[in-house]
Amino acid sequence: MTVDHKAHPVELAPGVHRIDTPLGDRYASLYILAGDDTALLYDTGVDGTIPDHVLPALDLLGIDATSVTTVVVSHCDVDHFGGVADARAAFANARIVAGPADRAAIEDFDDYLAHRARGLVDDFGWDEDPAVLEWCRSVTRESRLDGTADDGAEVDLGGGRIAVIRAVPGHTRGHVAVDAPWADALLVADAVLGSSVRLADGSPAFPPTYRYVDDYLDTIAALELTDRELLLTAHYPTMRGDRAREFLAESRAFVGRLESLVAVAISRPGGRTLAELVAELNPIAGDWPEHGTQGALAFPVAGHLERLVKSGRAHRAGALGSAAVWAAR
Ligand SMILES: [Zn+2]
Repeated sequence: MTVDHKAHPVELAPGVHRIDTPLGDRYASLYILAGDDTALLYDTGVDGTIPDHVLPALDLLGIDATSVTTVVVSHCDVDHFGGVADARAAFANARIVAGPADRAAIEDFDDYLAHRARGLVDDFGWDEDPAVLEWCRSVTRESRLDGTADDGAEVDLGGGRIAVIRAVPGHTRGHVAVDAPWADALLVADAVLGSSVRLADGSPAFPPTYRYVDDYLDTIAALELTDRELLLTAHYPTMRGDRAREFLAESRAFVGRLESLVAVAISRPGGRTLAELVAELNPIAGDWPEHGTQGALAFPVAGHLERLVKSGRAHRAGALGSAAVWAAR
């Protein structure tokens, strides 16, 4: 698909509007849930997304910025929270919230670096590409949040439309979804990621960047149980019915495949560091381009190493410089 830079919102169901915004060679979809009285914005994009794309879309919808009373930041990645200061400026009446476990990283860029972007340094000796970190800094303007988006919390938008916050951890610890039961729709952003994240043209960009494997599998199962007709993500086309179910199955199948690849690789003599695993598995684990994608694969591979250790199938066998070496038991 192409990204419409005029950001024409698309109404997918009553009161559920999708706004596609440009993100380099990808796009990020933000959503508006509208009731009779008020509206909720799901995600803020990067710095500039709200003034450049969301406010014009609200104009087209006839929704006044003053009626946006809730902004839910799905999770602590910059393409979702980078615009939080814009949200503060644009929506004077809004309560801006995020999942409790992601709040600190959203409010404080140093916390984001330590616990998210550079979160693999201490345990795995793996650091993010400095150019990526620089880009993350350049697209983010922080703001304090007004509170947390707690699992089960309800937001009454008026006219019988009540949105419900759902905790959907796995990609991050504090990722939250918003359920719109009146529309049979669930806004999930990056909570499930299929077998790759996509470019705007639909081709694979990089691996699914889940981090906490058991949580991610629990989230997939919970979304299957909820079984909403509309599954609305940040970086994929709108999915309905069977397509949504296929995507959830594809997401789970990828987890199984990558775990097998990691288990086999660390069973070879000498074990493997995270960097060695990522270099070895990146060309064979999926259909994304090899160049520039190792940093993304480091997240799920680290998650699988932790899971294999927890289940007694792997252990930390030593170190190579500052990097732990992982081996099968
Ligand atoms: Zn994202």
